[in-house]
Amino acid sequence: MTYKAPLEEMNFLIKDVFKIQDTLGDIEAFQDFDEDLYSAVLEESAKFSENILFPINRSGDEEGCHFDNGKVTTPKGFTQAYQEFAQGGWLGVSGDPEFGGQGLPKTINLLTEEMVYATNTSFCLYSSLTSGAYHAIHAHASDELKSTYLPPMLEGRWAGAMGLTEPHAGSDLGIIKSKAVPLENGQYRLNGTKIFITGGDQDLTENIIHLVLAKLPDAPDGPKGISLFLVPKVKVNVDGSLGESNGVSAGSIEHKMGIKGSATCVMNFDNAEGYLVGKENRGLYAMFTMMNLERLSIGIQGIGLAETSYQLSKEYALERKQGKNAQGEGTTILQHADVRRMLLSQRAYTEPARALAVFMGLQIDKQYHHQDEAVSKKAAGMMALLTPVAKAFFTDKGFESCNHGVQILGGHGYIREWGMEQLVRDAKIAQIYEGTNGIQAQDFLSRKICLDKRELIQELFQLIDNTLDKNSHLNEFNQLKTELVKVKKCVIETTDWLKQAFSERSYEIQGGAVDYLHAMGHLIYGWLWLEMLVAAESSGNEGLLARKKLAAAFFTQQLLPQAFELCRRVKQGYQVVMEANEELI
Ligand SMILES: Cc1cc2nc3c(=O)[nH]c(=O)nc-3n(C[C@H](O)[C@H](O)[C@H](O)COP(=O)(O)OP(=O)(O)OC[C@H]3O[C@@H](n4cnc5c(N)ncnc54)[C@H](O)[C@@H]3O)c2cc1C
Repeated sequence: MTYKAPLEEMNFLIKDVFKIQDTLGDIEAFQDFDEDLYSAVLEESAKFSENILFPINRSGDEEGCHFDNGKVTTPKGFTQAYQEFAQGGWLGVSGDPEFGGQGLPKTINLLTEEMVYATNTSFCLYSSLTSGAYHAIHAHASDELKSTYLPPMLEGRWAGAMGLTEPHAGSDLGIIKSKAVPLENGQYRLNGTKIFITGGDQDLTENIIHLVLAKLPDAPDGPKGISLFLVPKVKVNVDGSLGESNGVSAGSIEHKMGIKGSATCVMNFDNAEGYLVGKENRGLYAMFTMMNLERLSIGIQGIGLAETSYQLSKEYALERKQGKNAQGEGTTILQHADVRRMLLSQRAYTEPARALAVFMGLQIDKQYHHQDEAVSKKAAGMMALLTPVAKAFFTDKGFESCNHGVQILGGHGYIREWGMEQLVRDAKIAQIYEGTNGIQAQDFLSRKICLDKRELIQELFQLIDNTLDKNSHLNEFNQLKTELVKVKKCVIETTDWLKQAFSERSYEIQGGAVDYLHAMGHLIYGWLWLEMLVAAESSGNEGLLARKKLAAAFFTQQLLPQAFELCRRVKQGYQVVMEANEELI
């Protein structure tokens, strides 16, 4: 079974739907690039992912990582592939040219990342954490730290890791215990243990740059007393060469359900020397640069795996002969309505997810590169609003899609031979790390909706209205347009209800947070399906239009109306549940 990067889809999104050339055309940083170059980059990324990464995906899962005498090794082929990945410039696709990056839009980088996740999620985590650490250092560290640490990270000689979680502190980072003490030379001495650190140790790179959350002496309690530190595994000399080791060691690696090629480490910091990144006690703020990009990246993991699952199960369904069709003739399983339901469900959620990812990539590009501060600020607001939706909805639906994949193959999906069960195992973690999807939903409901004085959500509703208005003269796609208007009304009413209820019973109504986020996800996907249909029609690509029409019709008739029930559940509230004694639960 093979994976083929969905290049036609990707090119359709950047060129026809979002017109990247017009959207980013007035940004100085991207003046040297054009659509042809973007397509060429996507094509090269596809080749790398299909030919280098996919072949070591299954073997990486079978072999897993090793821990021997304090040393972590990745599965066979990963080191070589990482070197080739770095040499190909893939770590620095959207990196700052001042530090050796290619300076391409993040939008393009998100699409290359999708292919890497799709073909080898474990491998992708090493590069994605490096990219997240790169961005946090770039945004918040001193010039000296930037010039020392960023180039080797983009070259692939050094990797990044993110040290937040501790044995007793997962979702609640306010209670971390790791300590940092200031030294006379301006550095800090760090002590503590972090668990579940992705790529905390590995054999791919000669150094690992840990971004670690810790507390200074006398820091205030809770999240406002957390600072962020850059702690290299190996100390770095003034001239950039590697010095002695730095009291950073892996205590063990976890044995886990999936992403077995990704080393998940217990990390000990014993008098390790580090540097403050950002301001004292403002570590979470700085870390959010990394976490927000990582959250989107993990969302993309959901899209990539969903795409792979769709492709592999479609290929199987075309071949597998079981049962009879309506005429009583022997047929492939692709003829059966239930199998079609699952395949179309995979497509109907994956394609608008990719569209939303591209839309968000464009917001990131405007946020970081647009000369007009107002445009940049607006884009940053939209990113803040959409990040929890993207992380949670992409990964919930990604996991669902991988489950459909196993189901489509029946017993052959459940056994290891065909690789479908690996996709489920690899997709599951995306709903958990980078903040569980429950926490994402709470963040969305509380901070992004009910407590948001800027009313960012109104801007999103406005965008949907704009699309509906712009296309109101069209006699086509009426079913989707009608349904979209109704769903929008329902989601707006629910939003108003939540805001009202939040002031009186904010804790209890969190029970509806996931349903609310999913209702919003359906609304946004409905909007993007309309955008895609309109763009497909004017693209002149008949095959693409026919495929889009079918999946959009399925979405409109079978999936979008779920938003009504989701909204009803939110407004039902959780009073009965929350009033119950614990033993009754
Ligand atoms: C394979 C893997 C890789 C990881 N990589 C990293 C990494 O690189 N760096 C890093 O720092 N961490 C990493 N993590 C940690 C990961 O981010 C945490 O596991 C995750 O944030 C959840 O924390 P927890 O496991 O302690 O669960 P808990 O916080 O104990 O949560 C348990 C359950 O309770 C719910 N819950 C918790 N608090 C609330 C609340 N206030 N309201 C409602 N529900 C709540 C959660 O949603 C969840 O369902 C990784 C974890 C794994 C398994």
